[in-house]
Amino acid sequence: MAKIKFPFTLGVASGEPAPDGVMLWTRLAPDPLNGGGMPASSFDVRWEVAEDEAFGRLTASGTARAQPAGAHSVHVKVAGLRPSSVYFYRFRVDGHTSRVGRTKTAPAAGSTAPVRIAVASCQRYEHGYFTALKHLAAEQPDVVLHLGDYIYEYGKPAAPAPGRYVRPLKDSTAACTTLNAYRERYALYRLDPDLQAAHAAAPWLTIPDDHEVVNNYQGKTGDAKRRRAAYQANYEHLPYRVKPGGDAMQFYRWRPFGKVADLLLADVRQYRTPGDMLGPAQTTWLLDRLTTSAARWTVLAQPLFFAPRNPPSADAWDAFPASRAKILQAAPDDLVVLSGDVHNAWAGELDRGVEFVATAVSSAPPAVRDDALERNPHLRFFDGHRGYLVAHASMEEFTVDYRTVAYVDRPGAPVSTAASFRAVGNKLVRIDL
Ligand code: FE
Ligand code: CA
Repeated sequence: MAKIKFPFTLGVASGEPAPDGVMLWTRLAPDPLNGGGMPASSFDVRWEVAEDEAFGRLTASGTARAQPAGAHSVHVKVAGLRPSSVYFYRFRVDGHTSRVGRTKTAPAAGSTAPVRIAVASCQRYEHGYFTALKHLAAEQPDVVLHLGDYIYEYGKPAAPAPGRYVRPLKDSTAACTTLNAYRERYALYRLDPDLQAAHAAAPWLTIPDDHEVVNNYQGKTGDAKRRRAAYQANYEHLPYRVKPGGDAMQFYRWRPFGKVADLLLADVRQYRTPGDMLGPAQTTWLLDRLTTSAARWTVLAQPLFFAPRNPPSADAWDAFPASRAKILQAAPDDLVVLSGDVHNAWAGELDRGVEFVATAVSSAPPAVRDDALERNPHLRFFDGHRGYLVAHASMEEFTVDYRTVAYVDRPGAPVSTAASFRAVGNKLVRIDL
């Protein structure tokens, strides 16, 4: 007889694709919104990887230990896989079998195969349905970049704004500050079928912004206990290769995709000081990577609006002009910056390269002045819908499609393409649809 109820309620995920392997993730949580519902003991979880969805012949398998201290999450490092290859994976424990996930390894170092990268950010549960992620899942990109605000820590507002509070949190929900509260918030999000589908469709690379901890947090100025709880819960719910160390976790990293693209993920929160967005160690790392990258496209993926804006923003790169200038000086002439955070879609031309700003998956947008593009001639595109981006990188070109959904206040919105652009040096060329 099974000792536990069906534990794979939060689905499966993969991430950190390398040419020879990926990370696989799941969590045992029969009662995810009430502490997880697992006994206070460890469980051995079997994992299986195959090239066919029916698991006719296993490519790799093993067991991984799910422990109470990690909320019974499982992080499996799979190696020995072939580059640029699709694999399917699943987990088993105590007579239960998880859903099947699809993943893909990164191209080999010398590969010139094109890469399809989906970009998402800002998925506030209360503000809407994750329909954009359902459409993203259907595209089966090679990799999904999530650029922050994967959860929002807020409690239920005293007076929810009409039309912006379509999926209520529990009445008693306070802002997350404790490990249990953050865990339950991730569980709430991961029960969403569209978010589960997006994780089960492709490997993800995530970089947190502020709301994974607390609104507008920066550097070590905040509450170390809260930061520790937030990073621990973030780690427990995503397929990272690295573990948090107390109130710190190294999120910045380089992920190469053959000769086509170097993805550089930067952390704009944890090391911030009044004069420096990235902190000394990360800055040294990034400038070194920018100057030595040999890939056709050097892609800087990070949460915040990078291009200058009129009027300037106090919580984005405008407040750190020296940090931004250093990056642009080290970058190739056709740097590609990917960002999120602002809940609307934008595209802009930089001194060296271009920027594509992904809109929110569901978070409500701020008001934007009618003359925003006029006042910012280097910004070439604005769209006020929710959605995501799909970038196509090849040795010949880098193009981006702006996918949008018409509404998020109810499920079922169709997806359409609002615009497509090609990056040419530091110019954006609009592609006729
Ligand atoms: Fe956001
Ligand atoms: Ca943010």
